[in-house]
Amino acid sequence: MGRKWGPCAAVRCPTLTSDTYCEAHKPVPYATSTRRSRLPVDWPRLRQFVLRRDHFTCHLCGSYGNRVDHIVAGDNHHPDNLAPICLVCDRRKSGHEGGIAQGRYRP
Ligand SMILES: [Zn+2]
Ligand SMILES: [Zn+2]
Repeated sequence: MGRKWGPCAAVRCPTLTSDTYCEAHKPVPYATSTRRSRLPVDWPRLRQFVLRRDHFTCHLCGSYGNRVDHIVAGDNHHPDNLAPICLVCDRRKSGHEGGIAQGRYRP
């Protein structure tokens, strides 16, 4: 906590802050990225937790999976809604969703 208070780094903002920017000018985390912007800040830890909890077992086919899938798609990042998924099922799943979007999923 040896940081000195000083004016916000934004141009012409006189607000004193102990950080680089004042509350109003703080950069929004992940503001520039698209898909990842919806993941929580502690995602890497959460991800590791889920993978270890379920022993790197794909929740769809039971083989080795080192990715994390949202069981119910959306912004629910609770561990109850997360499970490991293997590359194959992950691809199939996103391919499935993409196929429906394109209206030609069925062979
Ligand atoms: Zn400011
Ligand atoms: Zn799988």
